[in-house]
Amino acid sequence: MKPADYEKFTAQLQALKAELLETSATRDETSATVALDQSSVGRLSRMDALQSQAIAVAGKARAQQQLRLIEAALRRLEAGEFGECQECGEAINPKRLAIDPTCLYCIECAS
Ligand SMILES: [Zn+2]
Repeated sequence: MKPADYEKFTAQLQALKAELLETSATRDETSATVALDQSSVGRLSRMDALQSQAIAVAGKARAQQQLRLIEAALRRLEAGEFGECQECGEAINPKRLAIDPTCLYCIECAS
């Protein structure tokens, strides 16, 4: 992989990370709202709030998982191991990496 590619993927991953951190900050507000509203709102809207809180929690777990993948990919970029399949050590197809720069395996090992 060329140094320009490393730069490109680093920028792409950092943008993804910033975006995720922004949305998980929004989710923290959603989760916090329920606690505040518990005494002041009716039972039905409280259930609505709990439901959206559950969705927010599930989304947050996904976002955290994604964040871990992004950070691992950034570490591989630093170590110069980015783009190598974790299973067979072959180079992962750049087109595959362009779609998902956090992917760990080449198409053969992933399938
Ligand atoms: Zn492989």
